[in-house]
Amino acid sequence: MKDRYGRKIEYLRLSITPRCNLRCIYCAPEGCTDSSGALSDDDIENIGRASAKAGIRYIKITGGEPLMRRSCTGIIRRLKAIDGIEEVTLTTNGTLLPEYAEELASAGTDCVNVSLDTADAEQYAAMTGFDMLDRVESGIEALCGAGIPVRLNCVLLGGINDGAFRELLRFPETNNIDLRFIELMPIGHGKEFSFISGGSIYQEISRIHPLSPSRYRSRGPAVYFESTELIGRIGFISAVSRDFCKSCNRIRITSDGILKPCLSLGIGIDIKPYLHDETKLCEAVRDAAYQKPPMHCFCGSNAETAAMNTIGG
Ligand code: SAM
Repeated sequence: MKDRYGRKIEYLRLSITPRCNLRCIYCAPEGCTDSSGALSDDDIENIGRASAKAGIRYIKITGGEPLMRRSCTGIIRRLKAIDGIEEVTLTTNGTLLPEYAEELASAGTDCVNVSLDTADAEQYAAMTGFDMLDRVESGIEALCGAGIPVRLNCVLLGGINDGAFRELLRFPETNNIDLRFIELMPIGHGKEFSFISGGSIYQEISRIHPLSPSRYRSRGPAVYFESTELIGRIGFISAVSRDFCKSCNRIRITSDGILKPCLSLGIGIDIKPYLHDETKLCEAVRDAAYQKPPMHCFCGSNAETAAMNTIGG
């Protein structure tokens, strides 16, 4: 499925709950325990089927914290069984992975992104509101043990966790785990903090490990580097400092059924009326792809104002 600018749109980020068990200062500091209005498992499967018909090939399950929804692994299993869907992956804060890693593997999860902004226990508690770093680290081990490819996603905030990359480097130093840096976007509470550019993190890491461009490409806009001193790669998702929109291949569905052509846009298509009509659902997915703007814009009257936990990142 191509959009009107010729981009191939084949990636759906699907939020299955707005609920989260952390209170990350730049994402959902007030937390979220209410999942009313969330799509049912059957609705989600219908969306998967219609999206596959429209041309979606890869689905990323997100939230809130997707593993807060008890049926998360069941949803992954159902989406994996749909003809045309080639990969179903998950992004999680990792705190519930010790319980779910094996189930995720048996559901056929192709890759898990673990969001981890620091490897320092005190800083972790200050940023997330909970003393759960140990659980995340056990969860990462459990994923490796279950044979699921793991990537770490880190957001650095100026004056808060700027130096956290140093300790996080131990993951790609000792394991085949990619460590990726996502630039903070000025959405929701993200506006209250200062972002650190991917370029400046690259400079800092190059002083520790010599980096060279990697040919590897994931399904998204990350740019990768490798080092003979590292087992895993270093990736940069530079949404703010670099124009990565020309390679954007994704649309999003919020947990309450709004189909978003672009993360930065506060407008979308309400697909709830079409959940039992595959033809209309498929048309809505094609429409959202068609309506993608040429590039994102974080300001203006149509800019997204919702908290990131409701969108899914
Ligand atoms: N709970 C899951 C997790 O932690 O991966 C999924 C939802 S969370 C909203 C998805 C990702 O969005 C996390 O990696 C988080 O760091 C990132 N995120 C949240 N607010 C952001 C912002 N303003 N800019 C960039 N990334 C953000």
